[in-house]
Amino acid sequence: MAEKVAALEFTSQRGQCSTCGAEVIWVLTQNRKRMPMDAEPVKMPPGQYKLAERDDGSVDAYLVNRVWISHFATCKDSDFHRKETR
Ligand SMILES: [Zn+2]
Repeated sequence: MAEKVAALEFTSQRGQCSTCGAEVIWVLTQNRKRMPMDAEPVKMPPGQYKLAERDDGSVDAYLVNRVWISHFATCKDSDFHRKETR
């Protein structure tokens, strides 16, 4: 199943998580909101592809070597973040 890509814009801004101190990279979501990503990408096993649907309905497949994970998903203080963003 192809899915629409939620484009994230990487910025050159690095920072630290306010609660756990991990290094993060700030990205901008399509709503122009700042979101922290883990600074170090995760290496993927070989042969991983991501499908992305274009506006005209055709589908592109991208080989994925590494992925960046939202820091909200990995932060050990994620409960705190969830409360904060509510
Ligand atoms: Zn954190």
